Amino acid sequence: MPKKLTQGRLLLLLLAIFLSASSQQPDPRAEVRSFRYHQHPEFFRLVLEIEKVREYYSAELKDPERLYLDIFQARLKPGLHGTSYQVHSNCVKILRLAQKNPSTVRLTLELVPGAKQTEKIYYLKNPHRLVVDIYPRPAAASQAPPATAAPTSRPAGQTASPPEHQPQPPAPSSSGYSLVRQLGLGVKRIVLDPGHGGSDPGCISRSGLKEKDVALDLARRLKVLLETQGKFEVFLTRDTDLTLPLEKRTALANQKRADLFISIHLNASPRKNRTGVETFYLNFSPDQAVNELAARENASSNKNIRDMKLIVDKIIKNSKYEESRDLAEKIHKHLLQHLKQNFGPRDDLGVKGGPFWVLIGSEMPAVLVEASHLSNAKEEAALKTEIYRQAVAVGLFRGIMEYVKSLGKG
Ligand SMILES: [Zn+2]
Repeated sequence: MPKKLTQGRLLLLLLAIFLSASSQQPDPRAEVRSFRYHQHPEFFRLVLEIEKVREYYSAELKDPERLYLDIFQARLKPGLHGTSYQVHSNCVKILRLAQKNPSTVRLTLELVPGAKQTEKIYYLKNPHRLVVDIYPRPAAASQAPPATAAPTSRPAGQTASPPEHQPQPPAPSSSGYSLVRQLGLGVKRIVLDPGHGGSDPGCISRSGLKEKDVALDLARRLKVLLETQGKFEVFLTRDTDLTLPLEKRTALANQKRADLFISIHLNASPRKNRTGVETFYLNFSPDQAVNELAARENASSNKNIRDMKLIVDKIIKNSKYEESRDLAEKIHKHLLQHLKQNFGPRDDLGVKGGPFWVLIGSEMPAVLVEASHLSNAKEEAALKTEIYRQAVAVGLFRGIMEYVKSLGKG
C-alpha cells in the first residue's frame, strides 16, 4: 500500500531530523531494547525491556480487535521499528512495534476476536520492563497452543523466549484480588450523583434540554430500580436543582460510607453525528479528547492547575482503581447493549481513564458515565421520552448488578 509506505518514510524522515537536531543533547528518551513473549497455560505474556521507567497508556481498538500500549518519552532500538510478528497464541494473533512519533513507542497486539477476557499491564524492575499479560476467556484457555514466533516482516532477531520466572502478578480484578474482594466486602450503600445542577446546567441541547435536568431524572429512576432489590440503601448527591461543588459530591459519598459512587452525565460533542456511551474511571489520560471532556466536566471546580500535584497523589493513593475500572466496564457494557437492543446501533466510545474532579477523593469504586449525547439530534429526541430514560436507567442498573454479583455477595 503505497500510501502507508509514504507515511512510514515521512515518519522516519521526521525521526531523523529530530535525532540530528538533538544530537548535541543527551537523548531524554528511554530505549525500548527488546521484547519476548510466551504462552503460559493460563495467559499470554509479553515483556518489553526498557531503559528507564516511563509513562504508558493502553487502550483497545476495533476492526480488527486490538490492544495497544503507548510508551511515552521512548524510542525503539534501531531495527525494531515496523516489525510485525505472527503469534500463534489462543488470544493474540499479531504483534507489531513502531515508533509512532519521535517520542512515543507503540506496541500493538492484534487479538483473536472475542478471545480476550482481560489484561494486566505493569512495571517490573531490575532490569526495567513493561509486562503485558492477556488472559483469555476460559474456553480459549483450555485449548492453548504453544506460542511460537513467525516474523511476517523485517525480523529483528527476536524469537520466542522461555517463560518469565517472575513473581506472578495479581489475577485480573474480574476474578478477584483487590482489597474489596480480599476482604469479602459486598455492596450495601450506593451514592448516585446527577451531574451539574443549579447555576451549572451542564451541556444544553439545541432545543434547550439541560444535562442537569436529564441527569437528575436518570438518577431518580436508577434509585427506584436499585431500591426494588430490597438490599441497597441508595442516596442521591442532589435530589433538586441544586448547585453542588464537585468536591462535595465525593465528600458526601465518603460521609455516607458508600460502597459505590456513580456520577451520571450526558455527553456533548462537536461531532454532531456521534452517539452512544462513554464511561470513565479516575486516571490520567494522554487522549486530548478525554482531557477536553474532563475540562468541561471539571468546569465548575474552583481548583486550578497548581492542584495537579494533589490530583497525582490522590490518583496514586486511590486503591480502588481496579474496582472502579471493573465497575465502569460492566456499567458501560450493559448500558450500551441495552440501548442497542432497544434503539438500534450507536457508538461504543469505550471505557477510559480520565482526570475528573468528581471522582477524586472517593474512598469507594467510582465511575462517571456519559449515558448518551445531547449534541446528537436523534439521541436528544430520545432523551425527551420516558421510555428512553427508563432504558438508560435499566442499562445502568444491570451493570451495577453484574458488578455486585461479581463480588460474590449479590
Ligand atoms: Zn456533565
